[in-house]
Amino acid sequence: MFESVFYVDVILPLNLPKAFTYAVGSKKIAVGQRVIVPFGKQKFYTAIVQACHQKPPQRYEAKEVVFVFDEPPLLSSHQLDIWSWIAKYYCTPLGMVIKGALPSSFLLESQSVVALKEGVGSLDECSPSEAKIIQALQEGPLSMKALGKAIDRVNPLSGVQKLMQKGLLELYQQVDEKYRPKYRTVVRLASKYAEDLDRLHPVFESLNKAPKQHSILLTYFDIQTESVEVPQKELLQKAGASLPALKALVDKGILEQDAQQVNRNLFHDRVDSLPLNPLNEAQQKALKEIQKAFLSTPTVLFEGVTASGKTEVYSYLIAQTLAQGKQILYLVPEISLTTQLVGRLRAYFDTQLQVYHSRYSLSERTEIWDQVLQGSPTAQLILGARSAVLLPFKALGLIIVDEEHEASYKQTDPSPRYQARDAAIVLGQQQGAKTLLGSATPSIESLYNAQQEKYGWVRLTQRFTGVSMPKIQTIDLKEAYRNGEMQGAFSARLIRAIESTLKQDKQVILFQNRRGYAPQMECSSCGYTPQCSQCDVSLTYHKFDHLLRCHYCGFQMQAPQQCYSCGMSRWDTKGLGTQQLETQIQHLFPETTVARLDWDSTRKKGSFEDIFERFDRGEIQILVGTQMVVKGLNFARVHLVGILNADQLMHYPDFRSHERCFQMLCQVAGRAGRAAETGSVLLQTYQPQHSLIQQVQQYNYPAFVEEEIHQRKAFEYPPFVRLIQIRCLHSQLAVVQQAAQWYVNVLKQYEIGTVLGPTTPGVARVRNRYIQEILIKFKGVKSRNQIKALLPKVQQSFESIATFRNTRVQIDVDP
Ligand code: ADP
Ligand code: ZN
Repeated sequence: MFESVFYVDVILPLNLPKAFTYAVGSKKIAVGQRVIVPFGKQKFYTAIVQACHQKPPQRYEAKEVVFVFDEPPLLSSHQLDIWSWIAKYYCTPLGMVIKGALPSSFLLESQSVVALKEGVGSLDECSPSEAKIIQALQEGPLSMKALGKAIDRVNPLSGVQKLMQKGLLELYQQVDEKYRPKYRTVVRLASKYAEDLDRLHPVFESLNKAPKQHSILLTYFDIQTESVEVPQKELLQKAGASLPALKALVDKGILEQDAQQVNRNLFHDRVDSLPLNPLNEAQQKALKEIQKAFLSTPTVLFEGVTASGKTEVYSYLIAQTLAQGKQILYLVPEISLTTQLVGRLRAYFDTQLQVYHSRYSLSERTEIWDQVLQGSPTAQLILGARSAVLLPFKALGLIIVDEEHEASYKQTDPSPRYQARDAAIVLGQQQGAKTLLGSATPSIESLYNAQQEKYGWVRLTQRFTGVSMPKIQTIDLKEAYRNGEMQGAFSARLIRAIESTLKQDKQVILFQNRRGYAPQMECSSCGYTPQCSQCDVSLTYHKFDHLLRCHYCGFQMQAPQQCYSCGMSRWDTKGLGTQQLETQIQHLFPETTVARLDWDSTRKKGSFEDIFERFDRGEIQILVGTQMVVKGLNFARVHLVGILNADQLMHYPDFRSHERCFQMLCQVAGRAGRAAETGSVLLQTYQPQHSLIQQVQQYNYPAFVEEEIHQRKAFEYPPFVRLIQIRCLHSQLAVVQQAAQWYVNVLKQYEIGTVLGPTTPGVARVRNRYIQEILIKFKGVKSRNQIKALLPKVQQSFESIATFRNTRVQIDVDP
């Protein structure tokens, strides 16, 4: 079938709206394969073949594919399907999805580099210009551009191409630089001796005068039990010998050395495997209901209160799916916070588990990618955050989306701005897999879908231990301030509760969802507040390193001694961050060990685990933290949870702010008293009467949901309408305002729904770019398709307007 292919459509990993067609020549090529193609002036890119056909492009002459990677296709057609869905649904070029999904080692940036092939043969048949290329490359590999300069030609491509065809040149695999498989040296007996062990007698005798070599050979036979190859390191260690002695044996032709690729991702330290815990009655019932629901619907919402044992129920479903030989994707909101979960899953599923994390090294991700693509038994169960949904699954049987309500499933930047939970549901349907959405406080969208019977719906209402949810009590901040009962951020009641918890030898978690010391530093004589020079926000003061940091762009500077504005040096701080909380509580309880868990304290690799383990062992009594303390942590001895200020969470300019506030407060509360006895939660707020606070207090999520659904309907928010947000960014305010207005005017001409804006977001400028936002509200699939067809066209005319040339437009679907 290869012979009849003349052209391929390829996707370049670039922000381009469509595929490009290239001629193939006589090369063998298939869909999903990687190729290198020339694009633009002197540029080459690795691209993915999307289609093979015989139609030449109409408006341009097809250039030729330069190189076809000699490997089985990297992507299945399934993969291209789901990625195309993401591209289309989230209004992103497919190239950007590919760029976001594939570990970059697969995508040689074409500033590609070429090298002479080793052991180059005859140069006789080379033209003079080809000979020049070879000469230039004799010093070492060169990029196309450098090569062009060296031989005085703008485009050395054709010459390079011909030389490649002659087998004299190859693309210098930058892959090798980025991705180095890990090797270990192994040693085996030379075949001459292996075939006939008797020949070894004289060898042993001859080695009598070389005790080290003798020892190595003996040790080899000692440890060579299962395989003829033994790791060199182990051999030398056990023989008490060093490398020269081994080398001597190799030189004599007795032993041979070889390099063997090791799989980096296999966990090396063994865990004791454990059988699954027997489920209690309620859990068994839930499991049965889930299984039953899956018979009639591919997606099931599993609503189970915190510590009800959802993970245990998942584990049974996982075990069943593994037994069917199918793959499982287990999505969690944030992988680095899942130490406990990884431990549990490893104990149950051991070597079948792989953890996929976008922050892992390229090599690790590349290896997992390969294993998933091959359906390897060592990667049947993939635990990962958002990006794991883009892996090349072969035979997916089950997807678990844990904490499905979490905001971090949505990628906001960069594009593709996809919602991994929603993409997972589509992926599941495509692969015929079951998708289970788990949460104690499901998203309004999912609950609504369950109410509408689009999803199955299974509830688990008891905590596993039978311990009831901790009692939530509110503390009125207004009153506490009025009565002079505050010490820093702490009310007298909260302090007394901490005291008594510590006395009982129990632990405390204090929650404040703001890191740093204080969100603002203010000059107490003139009121000046240092601002980020690139963003319209004040800089957050970080006391421990005495820095001012911008939490939007990462800019940081030394905190100034003197006020830039009046020259005085009397600084005051405003607002409360975790660092300040830590300082205050340490001051109040000087004998107690306090630690802080937030983005700043866990940036170093392993520091999260360290704090976590110390808390687990009881070396830390009070843990102060942002929402990091909320997620998935499960400590038996936490008795008291203090929430310093609930109001902040409520008043966030987003239609989901109440939903998020409820979810977060419930999750924080769920950290207390998980084991033997009921814990307690103290919640400081200025509005103890607010209906949201009251509903949280009663754990009345259904009441909250009912009210919220009502509001969403009345004010036209999802799930009753769909939203697309368009953000315009430019370095000049006037330009961006004009641009956004243009967009609004144009969109309003089409009757596609309600177009709102432009509006200025809370932070109006980030990284030196002013922002204007537009919101489109619409209903129904038909409008959705119309809008998505319309947007690229509008964007095209937008781009043709000179004034707007440097205006960036970002489209965010389901923001
Ligand atoms: P959730 O995911 O619903 O918050 P978990 O699965 O983390 O709940 O369970 C909470 C705690 O209860 C864990 O420590 C877990 O080991 C324990 N647990 C839950 N179900 C069982 C069971 N059937 N047998 C033994 N322990 C269980
Ligand atoms: Zn900034």
